Amino acid sequence: MHNPTPYFPYPRPPNGPLRQLDCYLQDGGITGSDAENLRQEGLPWSFIAPYVHDLEWWRQQKPAQAPQPAKNWRAQTWGAAICLEVNGLSIWIDPGPLAPTPKAAPDLILVTHAHHDHTARLPAWSALFPDTRILMSTQTADLLANHAEHNYLLQACLQRTILLDFGEVRKIQDVEVCMLPAGHLLGASMIEIKAGQERVLITGDFALREVGGLKGADIPGGEYSLVFMASSGGVSDWFPPVDVRAARTQFLNAVAEAYSCGAQQIIVPIQSLGQAQEAYAALVMTQRAGGVPNLVVYLKDSVATISDQYRRALNTTSDPWRLPFAEAHDPLPAKGIIIMPEGNIDSISSLNKKPKSVHLSKPAIYTHAGLGEQLAFAVGVCCADLVIYHGYNTLLERTLLDLGRKIIIPRMEN
Ligand SMILES: [Zn+2]
Ligand SMILES: [Zn+2]
Repeated sequence: MHNPTPYFPYPRPPNGPLRQLDCYLQDGGITGSDAENLRQEGLPWSFIAPYVHDLEWWRQQKPAQAPQPAKNWRAQTWGAAICLEVNGLSIWIDPGPLAPTPKAAPDLILVTHAHHDHTARLPAWSALFPDTRILMSTQTADLLANHAEHNYLLQACLQRTILLDFGEVRKIQDVEVCMLPAGHLLGASMIEIKAGQERVLITGDFALREVGGLKGADIPGGEYSLVFMASSGGVSDWFPPVDVRAARTQFLNAVAEAYSCGAQQIIVPIQSLGQAQEAYAALVMTQRAGGVPNLVVYLKDSVATISDQYRRALNTTSDPWRLPFAEAHDPLPAKGIIIMPEGNIDSISSLNKKPKSVHLSKPAIYTHAGLGEQLAFAVGVCCADLVIYHGYNTLLERTLLDLGRKIIIPRMEN
């Protein structure tokens, strides 16, 4: 007999624009004509566009075009790493594992967020170039500090790092640097660099929808000579559904299915920096609406440490983080949902043989911008040229060329 997909409740968006959008949910996205109806009702373009699952509609959109820059901004990229030269300054952004060691000391090193593919070479470069100024957001430094206990180079690097709050402008030599919230991970920043009257924007990894209880990024309203948009994330043809509940459906269904089959202990091994908090936010929100009511959600090891940093930063502004969470200790509780670092799963493999334990490996949890969000950003941001880096997506490139956006794909891409 056919088993229906288990139902899980979830709070619906409150009355207002999001509720209206919710009514248009069809196959996980909204059509071009839905989008036009919503615009006639007065909803802003940037609010609707990330969710429009309709390439024909996209090809009719007009990119926000800025005049060609007067300055000569030179740039190269290696994965997430960027080297940018302007006014005789050399500025490196996100020294990830693919970045070659600079031949001379950079004037500035900027870090968008704490993920390893953006920071792998930072401690070594900090030691090699002790006079180079390093800037990152305060929360990014806090997350990196979790790894500093046995890493003396990283400790020394963080001690001399200049910390910026979102929106704060810092003048260094001839440029001004400002960080804007990027969504995706606690502390993740888009970086704005201003030289004279011209500005460049680097997105780093980002998301426009809510992820892990973090508000999605806004499309910055400035006019830019160059915008570097990261296109990483794995699911290259994914249009996020219109609300966070629907974006989490696949994961929540897997949990609900395990629960309805009688599982008492559900183990979720997952990346502890970002993905775990998105999984936790999804579970907390479904529980608040009555889903999987009899299971406590536990967080273990580095998942708990990092989540505590989320809770301290977001407990007054973000629903999933208002209350303290339960921590799992050894031996693991026999009943509950346990979110743990994927690397620690070997140590508990014996538990998977227990009859009432289910192990949800590779859960469908996304923390990067999907295709709809990347298109909305690429069309909505006002720039002369758009550089797509840190990942490559033919569908994105082709659609943007069709609608007239000038794009640059760096040749040094991995
Ligand atoms: Zn990232
Ligand atoms: Zn990345």
